[in-house]
Amino acid sequence: MDNLPLVIASSNEGKIREFQKLLADFPFDLLTQPVGFEIEETGKTFMENARIKAIAVSKATGQLSLADDSGLSVEALGGAPGIYSARYAKSDNERIEKLLAELKPFSNRKAKFECALCIASGENVLIEVSGFCEGLITFFPKGENGFGYDPIFEVAKSGETFAEMEHEKKKQIGHRGSAFKLLKPELKKLLTSIRK
Ligand code: IMP
Repeated sequence: MDNLPLVIASSNEGKIREFQKLLADFPFDLLTQPVGFEIEETGKTFMENARIKAIAVSKATGQLSLADDSGLSVEALGGAPGIYSARYAKSDNERIEKLLAELKPFSNRKAKFECALCIASGENVLIEVSGFCEGLITFFPKGENGFGYDPIFEVAKSGETFAEMEHEKKKQIGHRGSAFKLLKPELKKLLTSIRK
C-alpha cells in the first residue's frame, strides 16, 4: 500500500529531522510546509497553538498535517514564559538569564515542560495529545547538551538537568517523548480507519 503524505507544520529543520526519526515506523511520506508559510500563533495554550498550526497547514496544502507547540511554564511566575518560551528574549542565553533573574525572589522553583501535538485534516482535528515533564529551575546553568532552557531545568527526582542528560534519556522521560508515546497508538487507529 502507498504511503500517506503528512505535512509537518514547521520550517525548523531540526524539528523536521526529529519528527522523521520519531515517525520512521509509520507509512507516511513526510513533507515540509510551503516555503515562506507563516502562521500567527494566537492561541492561549500550547494545544491551541498546535491546533492553529496544524489546521492552517492542512488547509493550505490539502494534506494531513502534524503540528507541535512546546515550552516551559514556571509555577512562581504564573506559568511564564509558557507559550512565549521562544519569544521570551532574543537568544537562549538571554532567555536563561532573564528567567533566573525573574525567579530570584522566589523559593518555589517548580516548573514543567509541555509538548502539545495535533494532527488535522482541513478544519478537523483528528488527534491531539500532550506530554509533560516536571522539574525544578536550578540557580545556575548546568550541562552542555540540548538546547533552549535545558541547562536550567532539573528533571524531578533525577538530580540532572536536561543539558546534563544523555540524549536517549531525555527522549525517554522528556515532554516530547511522552507526547509521542501517546500519539503513536492514536496514529495507528487513524491509519486503520483511513485505510478501511
Ligand atoms: P516552539 O518551537 O514554538 O514549540 O517553541 C518552543 C520553545 O520552548 C523553544 O524555543 C525553547 O525555548 C523552549 N523549549 C521547548 N522544548 C524544549 C526543550 O526540550 N528544551 C529546552 N527548551 C525547550
